Amino acid sequence: EIDIRGLTKRFGANTVLDGIDLCLQPGERVAIIGPSGTGKSTLLRCLNFLDRPDAGVLKLGDLTVDAAKASRAQILALRRRTAFVFQNYGLFANKTARQNLTEGLTVVRGWSAARAEARADEILAQIGLADRGDSYPASLSGGQQQRVGIGRAMALDADLMLLDEPTSALDPEWVGEVLDLIRRIADGRQTMLIVTHEMQFAREIADRIVFMEGGRIVEEGPPAQIFGDPRDARTRAFLRRVG
Ligand code: ATP
Ligand code: MG
Repeated sequence: EIDIRGLTKRFGANTVLDGIDLCLQPGERVAIIGPSGTGKSTLLRCLNFLDRPDAGVLKLGDLTVDAAKASRAQILALRRRTAFVFQNYGLFANKTARQNLTEGLTVVRGWSAARAEARADEILAQIGLADRGDSYPASLSGGQQQRVGIGRAMALDADLMLLDEPTSALDPEWVGEVLDLIRRIADGRQTMLIVTHEMQFAREIADRIVFMEGGRIVEEGPPAQIFGDPRDARTRAFLRRVG
């Protein structure tokens, strides 16, 4: 079980996360939606300390981290249990697709090069890039690069996968193949928290939709309820705008 309590983040005088409480069951797929500037990316980034939260308690299984006084070791432990998929892929430009996949396994996990490479080749096959392991990101399409970004998260076999608008930097022609890959991961019951503006996709893959505005969770519920019968006026207004 993953439990987030009172997660708070300020940038100067700007309170971007205003006490977020969120609990995920193992295998649960949760989609976060909401207006721009509302703290969705900050929430994901705070969960593995890409941004350092000011307050709150994070529980991942038997690991409990009090954000205000997290030690270096706790932050590393948290990072080992999470995997992040970035909007702009976040690949190392000077490493091949295979090296991008092995990096986290050897550096974060301490795997031997041989073991990491075997795992990378397994993942390359799963993401449909078995023949592109030696290619550098610049020679791959946007869709292929993001599949490597997602493959890197898959390789880590994390307790929680965090995806921040994984298709919003893509040319329209590559969106479908990336959504297909995420759909497959979701079907495998990977616990995931995905920020997306693809409402139809969120509705299809998520067990629960969380609507955020102004650094708070305004409303959450099953997709059919949030999209079909939103209770809060702010949710209704947002869905009218994007719908
Ligand atoms: P979008 O849908 O546009 O991606 P978002 O919901 O992901 O928006 P965040 O990126 O989390 O929103 O930003 C929330 C607020 O925090 C914004 O007002 C943003 O300007 C501010 N913010 C984010 N990162 C920083 C930072 N490093 N320094 C200062 N302010 C920041
Ligand atoms: Mg964002």
